[in-house]
Amino acid sequence: MTPFTLEHKVDPNLSRPTRIHRVPSIEAEKLWIKREDELSSGISGSKLRKYSSLIPHLIKERVETVGMIGGPNSNNLVGLAQILRENGIKPIAFVRQAADKQIRGNALLLDMLLDKSELILIPREQWSQVGDTAREYLEKQNTRSHLLEEGCSGFEALPGAMSLAKDILRNEMEIEQVFSRIYIDSGTGMSATGLILGLESMAPPTPREIVVTLIADCEERFNAQLSRFRSQLSEKIKRVIEPQVELRFLSPILCPKFGSINASVIQECRRVAKTLGLVMDPTYSAKHYMTAKADLLSNPNSNRSLFIFNGSALGLMGFQDRLSSRA
Ligand SMILES: *Cc1c(COP(=O)(O)O)cnc(C)c1O
Repeated sequence: MTPFTLEHKVDPNLSRPTRIHRVPSIEAEKLWIKREDELSSGISGSKLRKYSSLIPHLIKERVETVGMIGGPNSNNLVGLAQILRENGIKPIAFVRQAADKQIRGNALLLDMLLDKSELILIPREQWSQVGDTAREYLEKQNTRSHLLEEGCSGFEALPGAMSLAKDILRNEMEIEQVFSRIYIDSGTGMSATGLILGLESMAPPTPREIVVTLIADCEERFNAQLSRFRSQLSEKIKRVIEPQVELRFLSPILCPKFGSINASVIQECRRVAKTLGLVMDPTYSAKHYMTAKADLLSNPNSNRSLFIFNGSALGLMGFQDRLSSRA
């Protein structure tokens, strides 16, 4: 059996180094940005990190068909559809039926990436049983199939998610400084969990605070998943990973409900573009940035802080009519 190390589990062509840079000083003193958005032109960075261990696993298991579950605007479904196609694996998406009749944003990209027969719409009232529906459907396909959890939050994606920690340690070596506070956004919590467990298993013990903006998750679920993955990982590497980083949770300061967007969030997307030159999507990154910046102002850090920009400007596609200065 191959040992459980990132070198053995992660495809380095998918999980590549990304740069960090300072935020212009008027905006926030001592804040740096990690450009995870630059990992891919079409897949949000945190997703590609997860796929960097998931895809090698699927290839090793000779999986031919992958079932994936998500909402009509899911970044994960759009990312998976691209990377599975690229690897000759057939995607089948089980998508929650949308109220929006118009096909735009991620729904439009899915429509481009998937054949009609690969997109199964699930009525809202049947959504709670989507897992069973998907399993039954895949069983009938008569191919080697694998069903992914919503948001790709299975253990196979953890080594890839942990590679973010490794790359931050590389950034720190380069600038010869340590980030004592790291701001990261959370959907299923997998990427933030990877960062935490990555630091705790690879970094020398340094006082660090990880501040998680809960975009779609809640604190209890996050903590439960973190301790579950902590024990699973400890077992795999045959060494107990003790909790070491300090954890703090934030709710988005505007529109805390996942997917809800108002004029102020849209305004923040425009403002961040003009002041920082960063094209942020409203669903994750802009809410995350507003929240992290407010926290940094009310709760200053005497050392350097790092903002993880998981990005993908493609997340703006569904909001074109509202983003225009003429809107
Ligand atoms: C999916 C996504 C996240 C959340 O990642 P999880 O691993 O599900 O917590 C954060 N930011 C962006 C831009 C994303 O697309």
